[in-house]
Amino acid sequence: MTSMTSLPGHITGQVVTPGDPDYEDARRVHNFMIDRHPAVIVRCADTRDVRAVVDHARNSGRDLAVRGGGHSVPGFGTGDGVIVADLSAMNRVLVDPERRMARVGGGATWAMVNDAAAAYGLATTGGIISTTGVAGLTLGGGIGYLARAHGLSCDNVLSAEVVLADGRITTASETEHPDLFWALRGGGGNFGVVTEFEFRLHPVGEIYGGLMLFERDDAADVLRYFRGFIADAPREYGGFPSWHLAPPQPFVPENRVGEPFLTMVSCWTGDHHAGAQVLQGFRDAAPPVGEMIAPMPYPVLNAMLDGFVPRGLQHYWKAVYVKDLTEEAIAAHLEYGPRVPTLNSAVDIYPINGACHDVAADATAFGHRDATYACVIAGMWPDPADNEANIGWARDYYAALAPHSAPGGYVNFASADDQQYVRDNYGAGYDRLTQIKRRYDPANLFHLNQNITPAS
Ligand SMILES: Cc1cc2nc3c(=O)[nH]c(=O)nc-3n(C[C@H](O)[C@H](O)[C@H](O)COP(=O)(O)OP(=O)(O)OC[C@H]3O[C@@H](n4cnc5c(N)ncnc54)[C@H](O)[C@@H]3O)c2cc1C
Repeated sequence: MTSMTSLPGHITGQVVTPGDPDYEDARRVHNFMIDRHPAVIVRCADTRDVRAVVDHARNSGRDLAVRGGGHSVPGFGTGDGVIVADLSAMNRVLVDPERRMARVGGGATWAMVNDAAAAYGLATTGGIISTTGVAGLTLGGGIGYLARAHGLSCDNVLSAEVVLADGRITTASETEHPDLFWALRGGGGNFGVVTEFEFRLHPVGEIYGGLMLFERDDAADVLRYFRGFIADAPREYGGFPSWHLAPPQPFVPENRVGEPFLTMVSCWTGDHHAGAQVLQGFRDAAPPVGEMIAPMPYPVLNAMLDGFVPRGLQHYWKAVYVKDLTEEAIAAHLEYGPRVPTLNSAVDIYPINGACHDVAADATAFGHRDATYACVIAGMWPDPADNEANIGWARDYYAALAPHSAPGGYVNFASADDQQYVRDNYGAGYDRLTQIKRRYDPANLFHLNQNITPAS
């Protein structure tokens, strides 16, 4: 190992090392179960800083962690003794309303994209939580409210500026390095550091949507209704069933706060009158115990659940892809969903259809377009003393659901102990991803991720 002393002179951004006042904050990521001590965190200011860190890691042999929004549940944005390329300061979002596109820095969050684009009545597919990083979410695929209308996040990438393992700075697009461009759209952070994305934007005005809570005794009816409805629902509908404990909110009857409910989380991007009719279908399936449905700007909906997942919780997640929401799968949900242990935790069943199916299965590295649903068991809780109980719930739920699911789960929802499933998780394009990995990162410099090894 070389020392870190040679590094700061090359860096425009902040270099944080143990003992610095910022170190405790800088070493941490969103999931506080991850308690690692990097050798140095470089808060990169620009692409040259990123290249300096990549060069330093390659030449020194020190492990490299790349951090965008820091939301990786396994905590891939930090590590013991590693050098961290923290891109969070590289968060500029420039919207071109004429061309309906945005240039987005590799450390931006979805809130930043949403706000910048909404000023022009535009948006693109992000996740469900607005504090999540654009980079990690997009590179793994990107599932969110707008996916049925406009495709996955990765389907909306027009190009990316990338710092490669050998230090070269390049652009990947349909016409430049198309193999790299293919791999970046679903292959995660395995191929380089994306310093800037170019995204396609879409007209998205005020949406109509929010939350409806249903009794657990009615959950089977609601899930069956959702199964039938979502198969050919209008693309303006982007929503999902979710198990939650009822929060202390005005729309929840006071004596029901803290009880488990099946929640329908809905987003309708079309005409509000038509949206009201569509959402009525859920009320006809079963009477909601409480609801908060209203017109609102898309950025408001995208931030609606942020309060449940502040930085600093403990996280342990499991993920499966589901082709058919069979009666057996519904039975597993009915058994384990109501045991959702904390206000922060959730189990979400995200549909992958609509515009996601307009893109050919082999057009990007996202290898599970034929899955009808991506289901995540997202255990999140504040107190480390509860780790065993909460991890146990997620594992038991997963064990009950997995036999009724397709092989593999969404890479962005997988935990650190899911590396054994990595081939299934990346799915159909895995062998091609391996070949591209060999071409762009033969020494596996970018290995702190759901790793595609060059050798496999
Ligand atoms: C609260 C919460 C809600 C979520 N909701 C959704 C959702 O609705 N939809 C969805 O699809 N996913 C969702 N996710 C999962 C999310 O997609 C992943 O956690 C994703 O990895 C987060 O990206 P990030 O940039 O914030 O994370 P990081 O921890 O910064 O990075 C994650 C991975 O991407 C790599 N990476 C990060 N930035 C770059 C870059 N600029 N260039 C190259 N590689 C990079 C990292 O090395 C790491 O391997 C959610 C996660 C959380 C914690």
